[in-house]
Amino acid sequence: MIRLIKPYIEFNEVNNEFKEIFQSGIFTRGKYSAQLPLRINEYTGCKHSFLTSSATTALSMCLEILNIGEGDEVIVSDFSFPASVNVIEACRAKPVFADVNIDTYNMDTKQLKKKINSKTRAVIFVSSLGNPSGINEIKEICAEADLPLINDAACAIGSGVYGKKVGNIADLECFSFHPRKLLTSGEGGAITTNSDEYAEILKVKLMHGSIPLKNRVEFITYGYNYRLPELQCVMLIKQIAKLDGIIAQRVNICEEYKSELEPLGFIAQQHTDDIIHNMQSIVFTVPTEIDRDALIISLKEAGIETTIGTYCLSNCRYYREKYNEIQVNSKFLEDNTITLPCFEGVDVNTIVEEIKNVMP
Ligand SMILES: *Cc1c(COP(=O)(O)O)cnc(C)c1O
Repeated sequence: MIRLIKPYIEFNEVNNEFKEIFQSGIFTRGKYSAQLPLRINEYTGCKHSFLTSSATTALSMCLEILNIGEGDEVIVSDFSFPASVNVIEACRAKPVFADVNIDTYNMDTKQLKKKINSKTRAVIFVSSLGNPSGINEIKEICAEADLPLINDAACAIGSGVYGKKVGNIADLECFSFHPRKLLTSGEGGAITTNSDEYAEILKVKLMHGSIPLKNRVEFITYGYNYRLPELQCVMLIKQIAKLDGIIAQRVNICEEYKSELEPLGFIAQQHTDDIIHNMQSIVFTVPTEIDRDALIISLKEAGIETTIGTYCLSNCRYYREKYNEIQVNSKFLEDNTITLPCFEGVDVNTIVEEIKNVMP
């Protein structure tokens, strides 16, 4: 089976550090979990970063430190993985779905402006499949409306806008280290911010609500443990060092796909020249004469793993039944996009040949 993605890390790269961790018995809160946030700061250019157990817990933390709850509205990009909206629902606020641009798959500025009202308390922009296109325009609108902007950058480590890396753009940004993403530790996540104020609260909340005193800690609020173990931190430190190379390789693979598939009527996710897109996922809108689901099934039968682009949040059964606010472009993308395999050494020709075989 040709898989969608393969991890960019091998056991021999972590062998020595893993041995050392087992010998020392320091499995958590050791030197690697101290090092990794510094590496993330250095790489993204942000001031503060915090590790979490996933992007989902990272996003939840962000809404919590913004004190979002019942009676509040949070506007969210509609084309994403459902975790982007679940965190809003989980804190009893009302999710407001903003439709996306059909070319970039990212939040449409007109939609955002239309949906801001007196109950709006925050905006969750999604750098869809790694693409941060349009985030600066969204940031301006949020600043004018005095709304905090969270970037669900689960897919977007290494991406950037005008030379600024994701992680250093929105008020709060959340990364994922799930195996479907570029950097993985099995499970894991991070929050970045340039705000000292947010950083101060995050530090306390992520340490069970405690602050250190001279010889003990004091619990000044309630909090959580979403920490990432030492072994996971080692894996990520090794991969960050290789990230730019990984992205360059993925961009090349995407170009190969484009040169073969665009003449057949496939349309790639778009971004402007000032954007670095890390190509976390390579996604195309299929030609109108092709049944996308049938294509995924035929490719599976040929031993090629593909999947839909991602989800129309407002069309997930729970949200459709509760809010009935289906967004048109996002629904179109959910129905008509396909994610193609991308990893070191992927055989693009074989995949393209199989696609040609099922073209009418
Ligand atoms: C993967 C993903 C998430 C969830 O990440 P986890 O680390 O698995 O919690 C959230 N948002 C988006 C856009 C994602 O792609």
